[in-house]
Order: sequence, then C-alpha cells, then structure tokens
Amino acid sequence: MNSLKDKVALVTGGGSGIGLAITTAMLEEGMCVAICGRDSHKIEKAESELKQYSSRLMSTPADVAKKTDVDKWVKAATKQFGRIDVLVNNAGVARWSDVENITDEHFDYQLNVNLRGPLYCSQAVIPHMKKHCSGYIINISSICGKFGFAGTAAYSASKFGLMALSDSLREELEQYNIKVTAICPGYVSTPMVTDAPVPREQMIQPEDIARAILFLLNLSEYAVIKEIVVTRKGEG
Ligand code: NAP
Repeated sequence: MNSLKDKVALVTGGGSGIGLAITTAMLEEGMCVAICGRDSHKIEKAESELKQYSSRLMSTPADVAKKTDVDKWVKAATKQFGRIDVLVNNAGVARWSDVENITDEHFDYQLNVNLRGPLYCSQAVIPHMKKHCSGYIINISSICGKFGFAGTAAYSASKFGLMALSDSLREELEQYNIKVTAICPGYVSTPMVTDAPVPREQMIQPEDIARAILFLLNLSEYAVIKEIVVTRKGEG
C-alpha cells in the first residue's frame, strides 16, 4: 500500500484494547477508520477520547456475529468514506472451560464471534476490495490459534478456524491484489486479560500489535506475510 493517508480501514471491536490501539495508530497516520462493537457506551467513549480525529472516525454499534449488523455497518462506512482499503477482524471474546464442561451455548458463542464474525465481515468487504483490485484483511488470531492449552479448547478452536479462514482468503484473493495476514499474540495487556500469570507491564502492549499492523500496511506490493506470531520476552 502506498501512503496510508486517507486510506480507509474498518476495525471490529475498535472501542477497546487492541482494537482501540490499532484505531488510534491508524488515525495518527492520517487514515479514516470505521469501528464497531456491541456496547455503544464503549465506542462512544473511544470516540470522545479520539475527538481530535472526529472527521476521519465513525463508530457504529454492531454485533459481528449478526450478518445484518455487519452489512449495515459496512454499508454506512462505504457511504461515509467512499471505499474500503483495510479490514481488521479484531473483535473477539474469550471464555475458558475444561472440555468436559463446555456447553453448546459457550461453544457457539466463541465460534460465532471469533470465527463467524470475521467470515461475515470479510464477505461484506470483499466486493468493494475486488472492485478496486486492492485491499488488506488482517485477522487478529492468537497464540491459541497455533496451540491448544488446558481450558482454551473452545477459544482455540475459534482461533484455529480463523487461521484456516485466513489461508483460504489469502489464496482466493491474491489474484485481486488483496493481502491477508493473521496475527497471533500471546498475552496482551487489555481488558480481556484478567488472570494472566505475569504483571501487566511485562505483557505485550496493545500498541505493539498496532505497530505490527502499520508495518504490514507499509510493505511493498509483492511482499506477503502470512502470519506474525508475537510472544512475550521469556516465553520462548
Ligand atoms: P477487549 O479489550 O475485550 O476487546 C475486544 C473488543 O471486541 C471489544 O471492543 C468488544 O466490544 C469487541 N467485541 C466483542 N464481541 C463482539 C461482537 N460480537 N461484535 C462486535 N464487537 C465485539 O480484548 P482485546 O484483548 O483487545 O481483544 C482483541 C482481539 O485480540 C480478540 O480477537 C482477542 O481474541 C485477541 N487476542 C487478545 C489477546 C490478549 O491477551 N488480550 C491475545 C491474543 C489475541 P463490545 O464488548 O462492545 O462488543
């Protein structure tokens, strides 16, 4: 992608944590950003924190697990900014349970938000990106998209699925000059993490993930990075 100025990005879950850091970094680069989330107070709070960029930021309450919400959000963003250059599938939820205690509701919730959400959002933006023969889809997976750990089966299944979705999208969209990368972080200091075995200041910071995304967007046309695994110092 050439200069990032005035490029248009959609960031799911842009109202907090990693999504907010990504949104902030993109706005600082001069990009236009459309964010969504289920909790309108959360995205309004983010909007007020970023009010100096208000002309290039729009926020919409939307649940990525609901196709109608996604389609409305993408339509509104396209109407406001005229095009879509980047989609960051960042929204996610994490519930932990031993396999024998995973309920249908738990499993469906994990898969609907973390996997069906990125599917719906990708489906909604692909026609716009194909039209311009350019684009970038970045999926925020997890180290749990590479390995399963005790208690993470449902979450890991959703993130492994997201890795597979990323691979298929990359192969299908390459001919349209649309790149796809999955990012797999370990513990990142965000509201999602409440019981990490390390102090917050020793975790990966949300801004680190935002920097990785800007790095990807600044690569030359023929450079393809399939995945970035971000681990904490000492994690090996
Ligand atoms: P976070 O602060 O809890 O952010 C998650 C965001 O996703 C929130 O803004 C939330 O907003 C939004 N969201 C959740 N469900 C949604 C839905 N159905 N529709 C729309 N938005 C939804 O957590 P985070 O750590 O920044 O997580 C961001 C991503 O990073 C997730 O995909 C997570 O799995 C991944 N990740 C996190 C870590 C970590 O250690 N923090 C590590 C690896 C990967 P609402 O609640 O308002 O909907």
